[in-house]
Amino acid sequence: MSKKNILILPGDEVGPEITTEVIKILDFLNESKMTDISYEFGDIGGASLDKYNKPITDDTLERARKSDAVLLASVGTPKYDNNTRELKPEYGLLVLRKYLNLFINIRPIFVFNTLLDFSSIKAELINDLDIVIIRELIGDVYFGEPRGFKDINGDRVGYNTMLYSESEVQRITKFAIDISLKRKKRITSIDKANVLECSQLWRQTVDRLMNDHTNIDLEHMYVDNAAMQIIKNPKQFDVILTPNLFGDILSDAASMLTGSIGLLPSASLSDSTGMFEPIHGSAPDIAGQGVANPIAMILSLGMMFEYTFHRQDLAKIIKKSVDDVLQSGYFTKDLSQDDFITTSEMGDKVLESIKNHVK
Ligand code: NAD
Repeated sequence: MSKKNILILPGDEVGPEITTEVIKILDFLNESKMTDISYEFGDIGGASLDKYNKPITDDTLERARKSDAVLLASVGTPKYDNNTRELKPEYGLLVLRKYLNLFINIRPIFVFNTLLDFSSIKAELINDLDIVIIRELIGDVYFGEPRGFKDINGDRVGYNTMLYSESEVQRITKFAIDISLKRKKRITSIDKANVLECSQLWRQTVDRLMNDHTNIDLEHMYVDNAAMQIIKNPKQFDVILTPNLFGDILSDAASMLTGSIGLLPSASLSDSTGMFEPIHGSAPDIAGQGVANPIAMILSLGMMFEYTFHRQDLAKIIKKSVDDVLQSGYFTKDLSQDDFITTSEMGDKVLESIKNHVK
């Protein structure tokens, strides 16, 4: 692997704690010459507001653009809850996603078999679960204009615009098709076409593209039904193709199938770069206590190897090492309230396991 450079954005609250655990692994891989990745750090969210009074600076955006990939931990802190939108920590993340044109978000939903009993869902419904959620990431109501607050007849209203163009739907659908062809050739496309024009356009566009792929099973599902089906019978899904807002909600619901939100990574891709981050937020309720689960962050590093550096070997080793540690009965507090190891101990255990796999 030729020399690569990545930007690491630890962000807020538990972000720096889980980042430390990933760096241990990255340092080991570099020292053992399995990779040649230099890394630098940047600020985002509250960490950036503290220093620059902006949730992300032009300099950080530029450094993200120039790097081969971005590894981000989590953004958000109650300290800035009352800020206006553009001075909220989370705004920095939206700006970064848009700046890097990260229109594809990949969220694998899988269950480590050791953790079958940790899910609130019956084991037989989730054993060998393997779903991938393909979420459009830089459109929809999060970015649609106009938006804002105004007065209507003396009544204050807040409003947003749910908006998709055909080209936006096409490019994410094409990606879902490509992924689906490497999997079970089954796509469930999510919308609310019974009431929303935006969803009708989504559905028509997906249908048009799928006409050329009759070898793929396509099902359209309303988002409210999907929320129910994902809990009732999750294994019916293979690739879930979803707009931004519905995907945001469905993927958090799906994460609960796996036992803890602290376990799941994600990848966000453009045509030319990638950003990798846990699906969870900054968990202010547990920050600074050494109890955050670093596994989602560690698996995000694995996704970086898979999608940006095409090192499936390393991605597999990382996932297998996490699995081994869990099988050995080591859990962080989100999984085992009474008998748990700390964030740092979990990072050490996974590193130890990686070392055993590469011996
Ligand atoms: P959250 O994901 O931070 O936390 C939800 C629950 O899950 C909390 O009880 C938390 O303790 C737990 N949790 C999350 N990650 C964990 C981990 N690694 N280990 C153990 N437990 C974990 O969601 P929230 O509480 O709704 O949001 C907190 C902040 O994070 C807010 O400011 C929100 O805007 C932000 N947020 C950021 C992102 C992101 O950075 N991509 C995503 C979602 C929320």
